[in-house]
Amino acid sequence: MIALVDVVRDRPDSAVSKADFLTFFSQQQFQSLYSTAEFLTAMTFEFEHIRPLSLGGETVFENLCFACPSCNRYKGDRQSAIDLQSGETVALFHPQEQVWQEHFAWSENGTEMKGLTAFGRATIAALQMNRKALVRARAMWVKLGEHPPELD
Ligand SMILES: [Zn+2]
Repeated sequence: MIALVDVVRDRPDSAVSKADFLTFFSQQQFQSLYSTAEFLTAMTFEFEHIRPLSLGGETVFENLCFACPSCNRYKGDRQSAIDLQSGETVALFHPQEQVWQEHFAWSENGTEMKGLTAFGRATIAALQMNRKALVRARAMWVKLGEHPPELD
């Protein structure tokens, strides 16, 4: 998975068209850029403001990401959360500027997300990415051979 910032960097005027936007998200297989796996649900995904509107974030390409409704709701207008391992408050994972695999991994059985960094751990906790219903759903997806998703 490439970071969206790499796509934007190649644009001299940073004017990214709607077509580029859709291309990028279809390359991501329309996964939630936080929890990745929820493309298997029947939910309609949403464009989430990484920096919330309420805190001055804008509706521009660089500030949007594709997210499942639950990641979007739990994130709300948060921008940081506590990493329980270090006790420090850190920024949430930034799906456009950071690369998923550097901050998250799957448990051996594929049902739980593990945080590899403080960003990853704090984001998993804040967005409740290992809540029971989701872990149960992932266990079914594993049985179907549909999970974990292949990221490149
Ligand atoms: Zn999600």
